Amino acid sequence: MSGIKTTIPVVEMRQVEGREWWLWIAAVAVTLVLTFGILSLAVPVLHSPDETYSLNLKEWVRGLAALVLLFDIYTLYQQQQLHRIRRQLAEREQIFHLITENAADMIAVIDRDGKRIYNSPAYQKILGYGPEELAATSSMDQIHPDDLARVMEASAKANSTGRGERLEYRIRHKDGSWRVLESTASAIRSSEGDANGLVIVNRDITERKRAEEKLAHQSFHDGLTGLPNRALFLDRLQRSITHSRRHKDFKFAVLFIDIDEFKVFNDSLGHAAGDTLLVQIAQRLSASLRGVDTVSRPRQSGDGNSYIGEGTLARPGGDEFTLLVEELHDPSDAIRVAERIQRRLAVPFDSNNQQIVLSVSIGIAFSSAGAVEAQDVLRDAEIAMYRAKSTGKARCEVFDHAMHAGAIKRLQLETDLRTALELKQFRVYYQPIVSLRNDQIVGFETLSRWQRPEGLVMPGEFIAVADETGIILSINQQLLYEACRQLRSWHAIFPSDPAFTLSVNITPKQFAQPDLASQIGKTLQETGLDPRNVNLEITETIAMADADRSALVLSELKALGVRLDIDDFGTGYSSLSRLQHFPVDRLKIDRSFISCMDTDADTREIIRIIIMLAHGLGLKVVAEGVETQVQADMLKDLDCELAQGYLYSRPVPSEEIDQLLSKNRTTGVSGRLGKAASSTSG
Ligand code: C2E
Ligand code: CA
Ligand code: CA
Repeated sequence: MSGIKTTIPVVEMRQVEGREWWLWIAAVAVTLVLTFGILSLAVPVLHSPDETYSLNLKEWVRGLAALVLLFDIYTLYQQQQLHRIRRQLAEREQIFHLITENAADMIAVIDRDGKRIYNSPAYQKILGYGPEELAATSSMDQIHPDDLARVMEASAKANSTGRGERLEYRIRHKDGSWRVLESTASAIRSSEGDANGLVIVNRDITERKRAEEKLAHQSFHDGLTGLPNRALFLDRLQRSITHSRRHKDFKFAVLFIDIDEFKVFNDSLGHAAGDTLLVQIAQRLSASLRGVDTVSRPRQSGDGNSYIGEGTLARPGGDEFTLLVEELHDPSDAIRVAERIQRRLAVPFDSNNQQIVLSVSIGIAFSSAGAVEAQDVLRDAEIAMYRAKSTGKARCEVFDHAMHAGAIKRLQLETDLRTALELKQFRVYYQPIVSLRNDQIVGFETLSRWQRPEGLVMPGEFIAVADETGIILSINQQLLYEACRQLRSWHAIFPSDPAFTLSVNITPKQFAQPDLASQIGKTLQETGLDPRNVNLEITETIAMADADRSALVLSELKALGVRLDIDDFGTGYSSLSRLQHFPVDRLKIDRSFISCMDTDADTREIIRIIIMLAHGLGLKVVAEGVETQVQADMLKDLDCELAQGYLYSRPVPSEEIDQLLSKNRTTGVSGRLGKAASSTSG
């Protein structure tokens, strides 16, 4: 605690010292007066021995006595005052002592040259230096060289203005590490107002800083791979856009990389293995760019693997990665990067000693004069990636404006579909399925139509998008309910033996619903339709995509009591031997075969074999798209049981089926049904 006196209030100390001074002067003066008085009494020469002598002497003694008395009283009073002030100062010193010695913050007092006068014990606790080590160094010695200028500037300011601003700086711990301190300085002023030094309060905020940095990192990085996330990527992309607007020859490209069929890997390997695979992919991508973050790389030459300026690799989510390639010399540079990525990722991965071969689809968007928003450029690259996927995967596509127009149209369609659902603009059309044996109607396939104010929209224009976006779930829920009720009403009005059946199409999205069976079961129960009268149509592509799961779902559906049809047979795997593992009832031969059977002998032969094999598996066959009597007759000859097509009827609204059935009842059921329904067909 040496030097702590400097820190007690200087002005009050000066007052105390001043008073003591005056007391001394007064004491000397009184002594001089007394000495002179006593001398004048003792030496008679100094006064004339007349009658007034004794009187004067008395006066003198009286005067002196009064003076001494007054002085004594004054001295006593002053003594008391001094005592009080000293006691107060001692108390304050004790409080200062208590505060500084126990404070968690580091408190330092330095003189105006920066020499340490006092350091609280917290210094040792926080920075590891003992009092001797501190005494041997200057207050600036341990400060980080990069922060030194700022600290000196702040202390100069504190000296001149009296109070410094809050300051953050790094200081070296005894163990060599850096701690971050937050400090405020106040000047110690003399009575003349000059700064004599500074009192500095330092707080150790290293942990807080670390937590803040970690938080900042987390909010801008992907937790799994440590790569920048979407937000950080967009930020960097935005900077590139700004830069390219100022520098006309600065070009960049965004690559949107998506792993093909990652969901399949994820589902079959398990999520933990899927995550590990993603990390491996991220590492390989980083390695092929030599550096994870924005790292400057000089252009290389020679090996064809050469590339370019800077790159930011990010993982915006899921199985997607994005790459910002800057300082392109030519658009072909970006395509080369994409090809190199595809080559490197084509090398098999290892997952629990299992070799995984994967491919990626890449979309590329280039900097363009019009680009303003990072999101737009990223979206363009994503659109191009979708194009690459839809045209065969493992490919790379460059964004162009036709794609943009297509994407905008699609977005509009999505919005319109949602509105259509709310406005109940979807209609069920029914197309009769006819027995080839007697031309009698045995059932109906339900087909959607979208009744817009502008006209009727065919499913080819909206079913695929409705399926991808999941809107199909609500559409078909509505349709199934309506169709089930409709069929019940026909059963009541037009009883037949066996009863009419209802065929309903199932899309990939529907088939992927874990509760598909229970949903359909619920609708059947609510409408009271006998499940045996319902045929669910599933394309072989859907059924084969995940054969194990399909077997499970199909048996769940079968357990409801419904029948199962394989739709569009011949357009997918066309494998009857694989289909035999599924509990199906009927096979629908695709229209493309039927349409050319009357002109092409080979096709006819194929149809014959399909029908034969199907019968071998105990399946009935429905021929789709029968348009001519010649086709119908040929199919009959080939033992095909059922047919559906414009020859009999186009898909029509329920009212037209009502008319058709009433007419048949009055005329006796026979003959072609097509004429009756073709006029209003959809
Ligand atoms: P699909 O299941 O193969 O349905 C048969 C398609 O062939 C229907 O087209 C039908 O109008 C058409 N068609 C029937 N007979 C003939 C014919 O003789 N000649 C020709 N050229 N075509 C004929 P549509 O109604 O346009 O439906 C197309 C596809 O859309 C359907 O193919 C089906 O996969 C799907 N779809 C339609 N409505 C729905 C629905 O409500 N839900 C689901 N999930 N899919 C639906
Ligand atoms: Ca169908
Ligand atoms: Ca079909």
